Amino acid sequence: MFSAINRKVKRFVLRQQKKKPLVLISDTTLRDGVQMSGVRLQPADKVRIAQALADAGVHSIDCGFPAAGETECEGVRQIARRVKGPTLSALSRTVLADIDLAAEALEPVSPLKRAITLFIGTSPLHRDHKHEMAKAQIIDTACRAIDYAQKHFEIISFGPEDASRTEPEFLFEVYEKAIQAGALSIGFTDTVGILTPAKSADIVKRIQDNVASMDDAMLGVHFHNDLGLATANSLACVQAGANIVQGTVNGIGERAGNVAIEEVIMALVLHADEFKKGVTVNPRALAGLCSLVAELTGFEPAANKAVIGRNIFRTEAGIHQDGILAHPDTYLPFPPETIGAGPVELVLGAQSGRSAVRHHLAATGLDVNEEHVELVLGYLKGRPHNPADYPEIDEFLERLQPYMADDLAAALETRTKREAG
Ligand code: MN
Repeated sequence: MFSAINRKVKRFVLRQQKKKPLVLISDTTLRDGVQMSGVRLQPADKVRIAQALADAGVHSIDCGFPAAGETECEGVRQIARRVKGPTLSALSRTVLADIDLAAEALEPVSPLKRAITLFIGTSPLHRDHKHEMAKAQIIDTACRAIDYAQKHFEIISFGPEDASRTEPEFLFEVYEKAIQAGALSIGFTDTVGILTPAKSADIVKRIQDNVASMDDAMLGVHFHNDLGLATANSLACVQAGANIVQGTVNGIGERAGNVAIEEVIMALVLHADEFKKGVTVNPRALAGLCSLVAELTGFEPAANKAVIGRNIFRTEAGIHQDGILAHPDTYLPFPPETIGAGPVELVLGAQSGRSAVRHHLAATGLDVNEEHVELVLGYLKGRPHNPADYPEIDEFLERLQPYMADDLAAALETRTKREAG
């Protein structure tokens, strides 16, 4: 009786939540993200990242996979003890001992903020080669696990692994049974990152049309970036009705990584007119969050990484520098403050023009004339001058070194050391 009422209340709350014009951001940096080869995080580092995610305003954090090992489990325990705000979830196989362990690790979290994400492979490859189970057994195993998890958890998510390579009809059946068994959210996973935006949107629409109890559950999507389409796919699914996007900071994760949440968030923020759904994450927290994850994982994103790469607000090209000095928006997608980054960097290099050199020289406060500008420009472009004729140039170059392109800064460093030695 009590559980029937409880279920009705939960379904009501969930339906209200689904009506809000919001895309919920679920972060899996600390679980799928750290599955990236070469990345190891200690529990204390995980707590720092989880706290930063909470401060940024993510809806939920996938804290780890307790059954994967003692250090992993300890990470979940420490986050559970210290981090408040987002829903904290642990990953679990559809194995009862895993569920007990997840419940133990998340024990300090209040019942309405702790969740479990259950997964089992549903594609023919996973059924035949990994689980060696027939379709009916997969459904039965999933439903028994969901039912058991209700002993410990109010919030249960169910994500079939390799959903994108699962027969759609079977996938719909799995979702239907999972929701009936008690899952409050279901996940569509593109585990190997093979879908395109049109196909992603199509399957998300079909899930909503074919899963009869879909109104009683949130629909989340989880993309990998093997074709470089994870962000586009996630956004296509938002347009098609998905409620939750799960991804990682800096797009870290196995192979080509997971979808980068900073990319999804910025696309949603900048194109609110198109998506008509907001996010609870503060975009101004993104630069800090991304650099914290880069620092603690030791994985620095590529300089040209979308949204947060080092080069996004840096330019070396003369025409762009000219434009930016006239008005910063001329060659920027959005001002760096939008994501809490900046300032814009005008790099001095072989492609720079007079205006950037003049700008940086003026900022030194030294006595500078146009002849000096030409000499510095000549140096940047590899045109030698006779140092004896212009002894003051060396001081200019030294003061400009922090703004120089990496190759020129290194060359100047070597020259200075040689002269000193
Ligand atoms: Mn994944």
